[in-house]
Amino acid sequence: MADFLIVGGGIAGLSAGARLATMGRVVVLEGETVLGFHSSGRSAALFEEDYGAPATVACAHASGPELARLGVLSPRGFLLVGQAHERAAFEADAEALKMTVIPPAEARAMVPILHPEKLALAGYTDAAQDIDTDLLMQIYARAIRAAGGEIRTGAPVTAIARGAEGWTVTAGGAEIRGRILVNAAGAWADRLAALAGLPGVGLTPMRRSMAQIPAPEGLDSAGWPMVIGAGETWYMKPQAGKLLVSPADEDPVEPHDAWADDMVLAEGLARFEEMTTMTVTRLETSWAGLRSFAPDRTLVLGPDPRDPGFAWCAGQGGQGFLSAPGSAAVLAEMLGGPASGQPEAVLQALSVARFR
Ligand SMILES: Cc1cc2nc3c(=O)[nH]c(=O)nc-3n(C[C@H](O)[C@H](O)[C@H](O)COP(=O)(O)OP(=O)(O)OC[C@H]3O[C@@H](n4cnc5c(N)ncnc54)[C@H](O)[C@@H]3O)c2cc1C
Repeated sequence: MADFLIVGGGIAGLSAGARLATMGRVVVLEGETVLGFHSSGRSAALFEEDYGAPATVACAHASGPELARLGVLSPRGFLLVGQAHERAAFEADAEALKMTVIPPAEARAMVPILHPEKLALAGYTDAAQDIDTDLLMQIYARAIRAAGGEIRTGAPVTAIARGAEGWTVTAGGAEIRGRILVNAAGAWADRLAALAGLPGVGLTPMRRSMAQIPAPEGLDSAGWPMVIGAGETWYMKPQAGKLLVSPADEDPVEPHDAWADDMVLAEGLARFEEMTTMTVTRLETSWAGLRSFAPDRTLVLGPDPRDPGFAWCAGQGGQGFLSAPGSAAVLAEMLGGPASGQPEAVLQALSVARFR
């Protein structure tokens, strides 16, 4: 019998698994044939530790040192831009993200495609970094296996039965037993709880889309910071000689294999075009992923008071990578592992008890 039976092979399940593997035998079950197929394979891969709800931000702050130690961070920078009429949204974002307000000319020196007449407000932080998300998931998967754990792909969990000692789950035709069941099922986390006979926590999967366009000719965009429109109305990030542009959409949807909506993409690209001198003539590719939020947009971690043998690692929203090491440490603490260093108020804000 596994000590920790983790459902979900995205960053949540893998980071939790690597941490819990130091406390007992871990088995990770992933329904798809590859790890990171859903949200974790579709992110913007940015580490910005002041982005999100306070308790999630606390996990992000705790994550930086481990992400750096694992060698998955590299410099990027984060530039907030706005038009004159967007001052209120700009000031709120600049404060939340701890940005330094800079002259528009300085912003244009960094990212020359910003529109000289539209750009009125700019803020910058160099604290934001790129995360090598594939490498991070590989590192965690290796750590699970090195500790004697097991990762099964192509193993969709379709039935869960509670016994006196733990759980028996049916996954891909096999029955697997575990003492603690860890719900890291991303957008499907409430559905997984239902399979175990427990109520959900009110997670809402929200679609977020991304378009890849050619980088502007004659300019080297590789070192540009990520650029975000005031009020998170769009963002742009250079990647591998291309530009990724997101409409920063947040459309509530049912859990599914998400794809980008053409109209949403077109509207987002129009907002990007308005603030830049670029005209988008061609999309190279597009995709979408689900960012799943609890009602208070804060991570949901630890044992469920209705059945402490059922633990949650869910509600990662748009911060699943940047908060992964810190949230895995909190989950481990809540399951009897070493102290995470987070204050009691943060642990309470993250705990499932707030919904029960
Ligand atoms: C466009 C976009 C941009 C983003 N940008 C960033 C960013 O810059 N920085 C950041 O930190 N985060 C970002 N995020 C958020 C981040 O990607 C997510 O928070 C994170 O990937 C969630 O990880 P997860 O493991 O919870 O979910 P997932 O990666 O979706 O993993 C859950 C897994 O559970 C599996 N599963 C579900 N039900 C079952 C079942 N019954 N049996 C077996 N397996 C099951 C699924 O197949 C899935 O693989 C972004 C997200 C999107 C979509």
